[in-house]
Amino acid sequence: MAEIRLWNTRTRSKEVLQPIDPDNVRMYVCGPTVYDRAHMGNARPVIVFDVLYRLLRHTYGADHVTYVRNFTDVDDKINKRSQESGRPISEITEETIRWYHEDMGALGVMVPNHEPRATAYIAEMIAMIEGLIADGYAYAADGHVLFAVEKYDDYGKLSGRSIDDMIAGARVEVAPYKRNPMDFVLWKPSSEELPGWDSPWGRGRPGWHIECSAMSLALLGESFDIHGGGNDLMFPHHENEIAQSCCAHPGSDFAKIWMHNEMLQVEGKKMSKSLGNFFTVHDVLHQGIPGEVIRFVYLQTHYRKPMDWTERKASDAKRTLAGWYRMTDGIEPSTSLPCEVIEALSNDINTAGAIAAMHGLLKREQFPELKAAMKLLGLPSAEEVDWWREVFAPVAVHDEPDHAIEIANLVDRWQEMRKARDFVAADALKEGLEACGLKLSVTPEGPNAEPTAEFDPSKLKAIK
Ligand code: AMP
Ligand code: ZN
Repeated sequence: MAEIRLWNTRTRSKEVLQPIDPDNVRMYVCGPTVYDRAHMGNARPVIVFDVLYRLLRHTYGADHVTYVRNFTDVDDKINKRSQESGRPISEITEETIRWYHEDMGALGVMVPNHEPRATAYIAEMIAMIEGLIADGYAYAADGHVLFAVEKYDDYGKLSGRSIDDMIAGARVEVAPYKRNPMDFVLWKPSSEELPGWDSPWGRGRPGWHIECSAMSLALLGESFDIHGGGNDLMFPHHENEIAQSCCAHPGSDFAKIWMHNEMLQVEGKKMSKSLGNFFTVHDVLHQGIPGEVIRFVYLQTHYRKPMDWTERKASDAKRTLAGWYRMTDGIEPSTSLPCEVIEALSNDINTAGAIAAMHGLLKREQFPELKAAMKLLGLPSAEEVDWWREVFAPVAVHDEPDHAIEIANLVDRWQEMRKARDFVAADALKEGLEACGLKLSVTPEGPNAEPTAEFDPSKLKAIK
């Protein structure tokens, strides 16, 4: 079994994943707040942790991994959207969840084992908050319940921030009911027109952070293996999750490995709803860029590096992927996966390294292995999509188009021979083409015939 090493934000080192229970490797990833379409930045963690999920399933067995990704369906942004549009909250959240499944499905993302909605776990949140109050980690004031950060010595350890940094960086809300401006909300009161649940502190609703602590406890237990999300969540969200869960269950690990993806950027700035510099996954799909091409672009950058989305990257990815499809169309994938691809992925999900290894497979004409690796990365097979065929529609390579088609057909024949591993016939055909003055090469997009100055179309007829 390949050893999986992952960068742990908490320890700032690459660690070997040693599952608490290899029969049930457990991962929690913070999901979306559902009030609007997911933008391209939101898709990044979804793809990154989908690749990790696939790798874990490959390594430990498909039935030995539990992946939880939540839906935040109670939030002030949702309330605001409902008030502005006059539509009921449930209609907005249901619609957004449906869109999310459609858009992420188009990117080849598997549905996690559990997709809990925060509103289904209010009782669990209330129970956890009661426990924190009883143990002196939280206090009720003015209909609110707050977590007292000075009660947790390790507060700020994940992100490596001092309390002063945190106050300066987080636009900490000073409020009369807070003992310390850093204390964060576990529960807050709701007026009649806002969603609310009865609680020991009156009718109210949860703060944001408590939902992930309550849902991970319910579905994965006190300690689990991996917790993921974007690095914008490290503080305050993940610091607060750790503080709540570790104080609620002293002695537990909560999450052993914390993983954070870097941001998708637009001209050096994080793509975000609040900056307004975003475009949605839905928009990009409707520009005619296939979901697997979007996925391929993301996989080309390591998840801990910032990346830009550019049209150029999308068109390059489209050509490369089309080439891979061309060479793997109609062949059986190998049953074993190429070890260089597994090794790259097992090394902190080095998807860029895996793709480099796959270029090597193509070059060495290991098409069945390439096909198997594409499947592992969550790319559909050549038979499942058809856009790539158009990329290779014959184009004029000479003044007379008949020759272009003739050449394209011969190049296709050459490729079929290589695919069938009939290298004697392929070499003979290659010699014939070269004798006509064509230069044959294998590019990342597939085979290509370029007419040289010696090109003599009359000789094409001689090729059988
Ligand atoms: P939100 O709905 O804003 O809570 O975000 C859902 C997920 O998307 C979280 O894991 C965020 O860290 C992640 N995210 C938001 N913006 C970006 C971005 N520009 N690049 C990468 N991930 C992002
Ligand atoms: Zn969370």
